[in-house]
Amino acid sequence: MITITKEFSWDMSHMLAEHEGLCKNLHGHTYRMEVTVAKKEGALEDEGSKAGMVIDFKDLKKIVKEEIVEPLDHSFMYWTHSPDEIEHQIARILQQDERKVFAVDFRPTAEMMSIYFFQSLEDRFNGIDINLVSIKVWETPTSYAEFRGER
Ligand SMILES: [Zn+2]
Repeated sequence: MITITKEFSWDMSHMLAEHEGLCKNLHGHTYRMEVTVAKKEGALEDEGSKAGMVIDFKDLKKIVKEEIVEPLDHSFMYWTHSPDEIEHQIARILQQDERKVFAVDFRPTAEMMSIYFFQSLEDRFNGIDINLVSIKVWETPTSYAEFRGER
């Protein structure tokens, strides 16, 4: 199988409710994400301007920017069911002042984000005959989570 991968990054804050270390504090990361895709049937485009490609990198970039990077960049990602009342208060204050927040229904770890981003992108790619193969989410330069579609 031939795959292609594109890398993205954005800045975002979060906090991890009930973490026993520093991560319970409000803090931020420059997140990095690698999106790997293959063409359905494992083949490459065989004619036209996309001959020899899985998907044009420019088209891959457009989809991922619209679905993930633009809604998240410089936002506060918060967990709607967080047991930490302070997390709800922070989100409420930011929203009242029209600051960027992004609500999710999971504890915002790199692992959970990689699953969520995979699910968010899968339908868009299915619609254009592309299989999403894996998503890697880097929280620091040395730590990442990876979710692979099971096919
Ligand atoms: Zn963190």
